[in-house]
Amino acid sequence: MLNINIKKQYKNFSLSINTKIPKGFISIVGPSGSGKTTLLECITGVAKPNEGFIHSFYPNKSDKLLFDKKKNINVPIEKRKISLVKQDLLLFPHMTVYENISYPLRFSKHTMKELQPKSLLKKLQLEEVKDKFPNQLSGGQQQRTALARTLCSNPEILLLDEPLKELDQKLKNEIIGLLVTINRQLGIDIILVSHDISNILSLSNHILILSGGEIIAQNTPAKLLTTPNINKFLQLPQISNFLTMKIVSSNIKNSTTILKKGNLSLTGPFINQTIGKQVIVNFQSTDIIISTEKPINISARNIILGKVETIIKQDNHFLVYLNIGEIIVAHVTTEALKKLQISDNSTVYIILKTSNIKINDIYEN
Ligand code: ADP
Ligand code: MG
Repeated sequence: MLNINIKKQYKNFSLSINTKIPKGFISIVGPSGSGKTTLLECITGVAKPNEGFIHSFYPNKSDKLLFDKKKNINVPIEKRKISLVKQDLLLFPHMTVYENISYPLRFSKHTMKELQPKSLLKKLQLEEVKDKFPNQLSGGQQQRTALARTLCSNPEILLLDEPLKELDQKLKNEIIGLLVTINRQLGIDIILVSHDISNILSLSNHILILSGGEIIAQNTPAKLLTTPNINKFLQLPQISNFLTMKIVSSNIKNSTTILKKGNLSLTGPFINQTIGKQVIVNFQSTDIIISTEKPINISARNIILGKVETIIKQDNHFLVYLNIGEIIVAHVTTEALKKLQISDNSTVYIILKTSNIKINDIYEN
């Protein structure tokens, strides 16, 4: 966990951060130029804040003051146990995959078995290319090599600056899967910067939103996504609804899962999960149908009574915030809204197909 209270001043930009970052899989999002990279650089020690302190502390491990202007403390990069994987991977071109990965051991050896080059080659599926040079590798292999090299330095925290940018979806999924493994199996905290977090939303236990050098919001994904005017900063291709719900029952025969949160009950597709387990339930704002009358004879399994909280105009459509016990967002076209004749406090029925509901594992720690 990090306790950060810093100011970093550049000629035309100032970063002002006062926050506590919890353990786990953390995401930082924000528009270009909002200070995401600068914040990571201050955490690793690449950049030096003009004021303040950065304190890292872990239960069962020693507290560490990484930086403190007043106390004149500035722990050097290599002693912070925080590694940064930058966008440009900077593999050593004259070294093989194996040599690249083992490079950090030249400076400091450690005894973590899972983080020795051999284990890393295996875990990151690089055994077959271990004697190849970077220019003989695919994009995905290069990414994995850079990640393996960073892990070989045995970091307590792994910082990643837009590692998914310009990767195709298949590779994105591959890298995300790997990061989850690293986080959960090796217990290494991850702070990931991304401009599009739709891929990693359900994996992060905490998200920070940066804008103009300041944190404008930070919370769990489910909370942020249901906060009006915040989800626009998340720059999702479409707005997704995220609810943490509990599995009440699942029935393989009619391929459904019943989910509950308070008085809200939803029917989603079958998943093979323990009854009582918390999961993240996700559905797109564009998949919600609103009706002012109770539909009869309809194939959709979810017909939920709700109330309109507020209606917000977007460029060419409206976002209707609905209260169904939880706040959710529906995408409604201008024409449809006109026809519906709804306004704040209107009572409506929300219709949602089972197949449009996705159930994701929740981050547990
Ligand atoms: P982001 O990663 O969110 O796109 P950055 O942290 O890279 O944002 O940059 C934030 C602002 O700080 C930008 O306006 C950038 O020009 C400025 N900046 C970053 N690094 C330096 C530097 N070394 N010297 C001067 N200005 C910088
Ligand atoms: Mg950046």
